[in-house]
Amino acid sequence: MDKRRVTVSRLLLALGIAMPVVTLGFWGLSLLPDEPTFAIGRHVFGNIPEPLIILFYVAVGLALGVAVYLFSLRARNWERGAKERRWGMWGRRAKEFLRGVTMASVLEDRVAGVLHAMIFYGFVVLFLGTATLELDHLLPNNLKFLEGGFYQGYSLVLDVAALVFIAGVAGAAVRRYLFPPLRIRTKTKPEDAWILLLLGLIGVTGLLTEAARLSLEGRPDYEVWSFAGWYLSYLFPQSTAAGTHQIVWIAHAVSFGAFLVALPVTKLRHMLTSPVNMALAPRSRPKGAMREMPNLLEATDIETVGAAKVGEFTWKQLYDTDACTICGRCTSVCPANHTGKPLDPREIVLKLGEVMARTGSPAVSPPVGVDGEITVTSDSVFERITPAELWACTTCRACEQVCPVDIEILDKILDMRRYLALMEADFPSQLGNAFISMENSSNPYGMSQQERAAWTREVDFPVKILGEPGVTAEYLYWVGCAGSFDDRNRKVTLATARLLHAAGVDFAILGPRELCTGDPARRAGNEYLFQTLALQNIATLNEAGVTQIIAQCPHCFNTLANEYPQFGGNYRVFHHSQFLMDLVAQGKLKPNGRVDGKVTFHDPCYLGRHNDEYDAPRRLLRVAGAKLTEMERNRKGSFCCGAGGAQMWMEEHTGKKVNVERTQEALATGAPTIATGCPFCYVMLDDGVKDLGREEEVAVKDLAMILAEQVLGR
Ligand code: SF4
Ligand code: SF4
Repeated sequence: MDKRRVTVSRLLLALGIAMPVVTLGFWGLSLLPDEPTFAIGRHVFGNIPEPLIILFYVAVGLALGVAVYLFSLRARNWERGAKERRWGMWGRRAKEFLRGVTMASVLEDRVAGVLHAMIFYGFVVLFLGTATLELDHLLPNNLKFLEGGFYQGYSLVLDVAALVFIAGVAGAAVRRYLFPPLRIRTKTKPEDAWILLLLGLIGVTGLLTEAARLSLEGRPDYEVWSFAGWYLSYLFPQSTAAGTHQIVWIAHAVSFGAFLVALPVTKLRHMLTSPVNMALAPRSRPKGAMREMPNLLEATDIETVGAAKVGEFTWKQLYDTDACTICGRCTSVCPANHTGKPLDPREIVLKLGEVMARTGSPAVSPPVGVDGEITVTSDSVFERITPAELWACTTCRACEQVCPVDIEILDKILDMRRYLALMEADFPSQLGNAFISMENSSNPYGMSQQERAAWTREVDFPVKILGEPGVTAEYLYWVGCAGSFDDRNRKVTLATARLLHAAGVDFAILGPRELCTGDPARRAGNEYLFQTLALQNIATLNEAGVTQIIAQCPHCFNTLANEYPQFGGNYRVFHHSQFLMDLVAQGKLKPNGRVDGKVTFHDPCYLGRHNDEYDAPRRLLRVAGAKLTEMERNRKGSFCCGAGGAQMWMEEHTGKKVNVERTQEALATGAPTIATGCPFCYVMLDDGVKDLGREEEVAVKDLAMILAEQVLGR
């Protein structure tokens, strides 16, 4: 670390050292004002002897100092990471931060969200209320404001906040220990009980302190606004209230001090780190794009590709591990985890955090939720994470979509895959076959490129091929490897081409010059192969002057639209569902609107969660005359088909097959037609229907096939 740089950890260290001095200064200030003269107000520290007051200021100062110092140690760990720009876009960052502190994302889970909000808001109001009281206490008499009706309103608000806070803590305890969802049950540790106990103690001792004070003061009428303390004060006889008040006041102060020290070393720290993480979340690349890498074909000074050691992850990826709330929502939606594969996205985050914390200097506590004392002998994540976990990921992005605090899980998995594939050559053998096919034949099917345009022989109109003499076109139709070589998906290609032709669209294809976009190679960690293919494609596209592309494969769509710009390929890219819907809207395609029976639509992950397109396919189905029925998990909560992230090219040996799980859900709708808009989803669902022996009653079709039946009668 550069000794002269101003870093977050050094700033925090300086702040930590300053804390005891600052709080002692507050005590000094508190000696200055004369005795308050209000008629309606509060005597702060009224019953507390001066030595105890001094001790209070010293203890709070030390606790704050220790807390900030411990955070500075955590920050030193984040600073071990590689550079990553999270600057600018301040409007979006402010919005995300507000989403964090307003609990908007947490509230998506109703029960957990409401309890969290009760605890958080209750605590914030109580904290601000105490700070306001302290401020008022330090001000000279002529500036004090906590008097009269304002004081009574203040008292009312604080008592309500205290009850909300205590009820939230109690509710959280009941949920965790009596009715825990699976994702919570598997990660409940003694620390959780201590945290709930500590929070409960803060709330209860706060109210009891108020009650004892009111009893001691003889319950003046105006204090009835402190209604909770007022009624509780009947528990304390006035004769003994002075001693009781001092005891509960000390208990309250000690529990607050313990909270401050616990903040950085327990999961409580997410109160601070999570909203900041959300503010850091906006990034310049689209969410469907993987982290950019230098041109590996030209760079000569790259020692490591991907990430294995702590320092090879970015600082943001490391910071993520301290912002995770251990809620397990990511795990609960992960198709790999759900079907019995060894992958648990929450564990990926925690294990990286654990290796980071255990190898820090000086070591700080690992993320909570880590099972037991684990010895880590180096700063490589592969001490804790196995390749099998990483290769089980379908890159569906469900985990990130559901994470309430914007932890970026997928980037970490994909960076580790990059390391495994290119630094260790450690990948499933079937992937090796796909790599060889992509290297030798420029497509993962291992088919001859000369057969790319073979489908054009089946249509009764000429299809233009860019690159042939004199050929130009307004749109490039990117057919994709599946659309070119897979028998089932060739039907989608024929339907799409016929619809484009019927609508009078001026389109052409690249034919043999269209190579695999490289998506499966990139998601499988083979960045070198991806770049080899991508750079050739970009050269072809730019040379042909292509500006607008129609793609039927969401993986091609995503790579062309979101990843090729990283290498100088900038095009306007449409998914065929969007383009065909536009043609219908313009009246260039006229469906007859007679789809038989209900249709259920399966959202492809790379169209939906990676690119936020949920409506175009549904609108298209509706205008085609389909009666849509939704599966239980749909739109952004959709369940993967199991093929993404290069799983299409791997064998699924462990647990239940993801495509069977999804197909069962589709069949449960009772719809005789399962529609989708992705060649891989099409194959996976069609296989699922066959595996389940339902192919006689249920048909799987791409959107283009359904529309072509309605528009063209075939
Ligand atoms: S991207 Fe999908 S498969 Fe991968 S960890 Fe996240 S939820 Fe699981
Ligand atoms: S990564 Fe997000 S969803 Fe997963 S446990 Fe952490 S906070 Fe919860």
